[in-house]
Amino acid sequence: MKEKLYTIPVNEAFQADCECPICLMKKTLEDNAIDFTMGPSYMEDDVRAETDKIGFCSHHIEKLYENQNRLGLALMLKTHMDKTIKDIEKLANTGKVSSPSLFKKKTELSGVKAYIDHIDNSCYICERINNTFNRYIDTIFLLYQNDDEFRNKLKQSKGFCTSHYGLLYEEAPKHLKTDRAEDFMKSLNFVYLENMKRVRDELEWFTDKFDYRYVNEPWKNSKDALPRTMIKTNSLINKDAVSK
Ligand SMILES: [Zn+2]
Ligand SMILES: [Zn+2]
Repeated sequence: MKEKLYTIPVNEAFQADCECPICLMKKTLEDNAIDFTMGPSYMEDDVRAETDKIGFCSHHIEKLYENQNRLGLALMLKTHMDKTIKDIEKLANTGKVSSPSLFKKKTELSGVKAYIDHIDNSCYICERINNTFNRYIDTIFLLYQNDDEFRNKLKQSKGFCTSHYGLLYEEAPKHLKTDRAEDFMKSLNFVYLENMKRVRDELEWFTDKFDYRYVNEPWKNSKDALPRTMIKTNSLINKDAVSK
């Protein structure tokens, strides 16, 4: 039962005080993947073979840069460039560029185009995250199917960001038995919408506080309403939003 391994992080995330437990799990996976990649493992051959081949997406290259291991990142990008140059040299048509004949040109260019598309759409960090992330999602449904306590936990949670609400909405029928799926959808819709409205209202109070008439009123829960809103709308957890 591989899934059993993941019940702990999933339960912990659903217990945490956060606007989306799935964002929270993803953030932890991301932090771990960055630390792993910038730790000693970037000198290991199998890791480097992968990073040379697929590189990083722009979101994660920025995170890696922030990590401050400049030498590690430079070494990784150097050999990634070596590989890109070598592969493109092999694939690129160095011969004459013929007039745009619809049939021939297309196939000649497709090697380079396909190669670049692949690099553009792949990322070592994203792949590391996604392997475990997908199993976390499976675990959510496994727990919802079988565990009464978890079902209550979900119902009492602070809901989800819009993107992860959509993911659960889409995946539920594939994982749950019909009765459970119906119950899940009801809970999911309720918990998502109720908490969207709660944060929307807190954000509204945050904006009201800029009005001189409310200047002496209490902040209530609105002081960090903006970073918490950014979780709901953009799945973005920054440090201002976590420790409330
Ligand atoms: Zn989320
Ligand atoms: Zn990435």
